[in-house]
Amino acid sequence: MKAQTIAIIGGGPAGAMAAEKLAEGWGLRGPGGGTHRVQVFEEKIGWEKPCGGGLSFKALRRYPFLERAVSGGNLLRNAEFIASSGATMRFRLRVPLTVYSRATLNRLLLRRAKEAGAEVVAERILRLQRTNAGWEITGRERTYHADFVALAAGARTRLRQTLAPDFSQRDFMLTYGYYLPPSSNVLRVQFYEDFEGYAWAFPRTDHVSVGICGKIGQDSMPALRNRLADFMRNYGYSPDPRRIFSHLLPSLSAESWGNLRLAGERWAIAGDAAGLVDPVTGEGIYYAMRSGHLLAEALLEESPAAYPEKVRNEFGKALALGARLARTFYHGEFLGSGVTTRMIEFGAHSQKFLEIIQDLVEGSKSFPGLAARLYSALARTLVETGMSKLREAVQSPFFPSPRGEGGPRSGE
Ligand SMILES: Cc1cc2nc3c(=O)[nH]c(=O)nc-3n(C[C@H](O)[C@H](O)[C@H](O)COP(=O)(O)OP(=O)(O)OC[C@H]3O[C@@H](n4cnc5c(N)ncnc54)[C@H](O)[C@@H]3O)c2cc1C
Repeated sequence: MKAQTIAIIGGGPAGAMAAEKLAEGWGLRGPGGGTHRVQVFEEKIGWEKPCGGGLSFKALRRYPFLERAVSGGNLLRNAEFIASSGATMRFRLRVPLTVYSRATLNRLLLRRAKEAGAEVVAERILRLQRTNAGWEITGRERTYHADFVALAAGARTRLRQTLAPDFSQRDFMLTYGYYLPPSSNVLRVQFYEDFEGYAWAFPRTDHVSVGICGKIGQDSMPALRNRLADFMRNYGYSPDPRRIFSHLLPSLSAESWGNLRLAGERWAIAGDAAGLVDPVTGEGIYYAMRSGHLLAEALLEESPAAYPEKVRNEFGKALALGARLARTFYHGEFLGSGVTTRMIEFGAHSQKFLEIIQDLVEGSKSFPGLAARLYSALARTLVETGMSKLREAVQSPFFPSPRGEGGPRSGE
């Protein structure tokens, strides 16, 4: 293969992982390394990207170096889920959730990419333009050239429009929150009735990230802030106007998953820029790292066109199903209350529900399997308690209806 220059725009988990695996695969380490070139363009090297920073167990299992570098992250064992009714479920995670400061995590991943032989360039990329030979990449400082462009510039990037159809507003959650001084070492998540999103408190080694996410089009920003203010008041977190964050979190609709384009002629998109986030939990770091890694694998196999298929097979189909189930999870009604409320109420007393919630937080089981278990557990609970709504539940045992809608369509 002739010498290739790969330009990766964005040095977050997706871009850094793609760079590391490519440089490693091509043996670029040290002077006189391979003939190819891997450049990562990052405008804010090692920054505190607005994020909960929670890494599930599956990420640690897949990438043990994350566990070895755990001094940069906080190991959490104790969790608290709160329903909109105020019902609270306290539980212990069987495997710890690691919560990283994003500055620490980003620095770690970029350092690994550099050590593997990638070039990390501190630069903001403004424009991508095709040439006969590949790409002209216009940065704030200078112009670069590459044979292949990998876009890994996160949820807010406008560069996406050059490559693929843009997402719509319905494909994002709005987030808002604060970095606060460290307090209790408990992971807290508050759900709401008929609201796609949640408030959270994720403690880290030297601070706690407290925030809220909500699908765009539900709450105005002031209303979202009010929800967060209530959560913070209830749990004794004081807002600090000097340390506010706000960012977009991809949460693709089922339709957008169906139309997703991840690669084309001499380009590919990874991580948040491609919308690869779990639509129910908001987990994105793992999928960013995996998509970067799978892209590197496809390029090393000289088959970049195989990248979308790799993503679809490994986790894309599951996340697309998650997009369909998210509506039911957040808007579904069960015995006169929201699905999340019932899940937490039952989870406080039932081992079966507790295990489902532990699996959800630990990220140890595939999401579709978990959703099916949750809904069948809800239906079985009805049967066990012999409650009067049994007949309606049996008609719709696995998929409680979103409010105001009929039951599931056939084939769902
Ligand atoms: C508030 C919030 C909380 C979250 N909590 C969690 C959580 O607890 N756990 C979890 O797994 N996920 C969480 N996520 C999602 C997670 O943050 C993302 O999925 C993850 O960061 C995606 O990685 P990425 O590399 O694709 O993008 P990013 O991490 O966004 O990295 C993109 C990089 O590209 C750089 N960049 C952008 N444009 C340019 C340009 N033009 N030129 C050069 N560089 C550029 C940016 O500076 C950035 O460093 C959360 C997201 C939000 C918003």
